[in-house]
Amino acid sequence: MPGLPIAIVDDRRFDRHRSEEQHPERPERLVAARAGLECALPPAEQVEVLVRPVSDEEAERVHSSDYLARLQRTLRTGWGYIDADTYFCPETGEAAWLAAGGGVELSRALLEGRARRGIALLRPPGHHACPEKAMGFCLLNNIAIAAADAVEQGAKRVAIVDWDVHHGNGTQDIFYDEKRVLFVSLHQSPLYPGTGAPEEIGAPGAEGTNVNIAMPPGTGPAAYGEALRTIVLPLLEAFEADLLLVSAGFDAHFKDPLAQLELDADCFGAMTTALARHVDRLGHGRLGLFLEGGYDLEAIEHSVAALLRALRGEELELPTGPLRPVEQQALRRTTEAVSKKPG
Ligand SMILES: [Zn+2]
Repeated sequence: MPGLPIAIVDDRRFDRHRSEEQHPERPERLVAARAGLECALPPAEQVEVLVRPVSDEEAERVHSSDYLARLQRTLRTGWGYIDADTYFCPETGEAAWLAAGGGVELSRALLEGRARRGIALLRPPGHHACPEKAMGFCLLNNIAIAAADAVEQGAKRVAIVDWDVHHGNGTQDIFYDEKRVLFVSLHQSPLYPGTGAPEEIGAPGAEGTNVNIAMPPGTGPAAYGEALRTIVLPLLEAFEADLLLVSAGFDAHFKDPLAQLELDADCFGAMTTALARHVDRLGHGRLGLFLEGGYDLEAIEHSVAALLRALRGEELELPTGPLRPVEQQALRRTTEAVSKKPG
């Protein structure tokens, strides 16, 4: 719906999370995202959302208190690596706690009706962070903390669509036995972190609320369009969430150096249009997008711009076209796995 204000979560303190060495997850990513935002969204249509540190109570809904204490002790040591990929610097703790708190505030702004759409330009990213473990550039699972808070605030059901090119293993782990949260991930397989098989459909009692669409290398926009039309949107329509959140990584873009998919900026815009129309059909219109990965700066800038143009009401249709047999096979595997759930 054009002209409605869009909630923005952003804070310069996210930029202070940086590595001493060259690393793909770098502050320039947010500079690129902001450039995309500025060219697509006039300031008059932006609603700024408060950024504040996540509270212990909020973080402990998805991470153990033992993990949080351990992480804080590690971060106080200054510079270093938690695992081979996941660095920290003296300002990382502040950035991570602010990113998670900003995500909670976005979710509340949407639930309270201060805006119907929103985007959180967060660093460090979150979707690999597990209940007990930091990994894959992620320390706190921003989107999971926001979704858990939404349930606490009274949302009966929350849906998360994760289109980052890597499987959102942390978010899956956190909500694997939670039937009030539907998690749908589209990702490249094989690829880091190696999880995300379609047969992982949720723990007993929550079967069907965890959905993995594992795309082969080389997958392009038409297969994503088909996945949304035939799998993601029907699942969302049936689930009727009170809030839809998106782990919006841009590393499935054809220019991204860490993966081998072939999406473009328009495809991200079209997926945003499709999800925005869906939440409008539900009547509430609540859609919040969280930045995850994406490591080519120009791809980030153009994709964020396309996404915001879609949020403003410039409608792009989902891509169509012939699918390769391996792409058809990937979609069929998910359809079959989901149809096997009991009841
Ligand atoms: Zn990623």
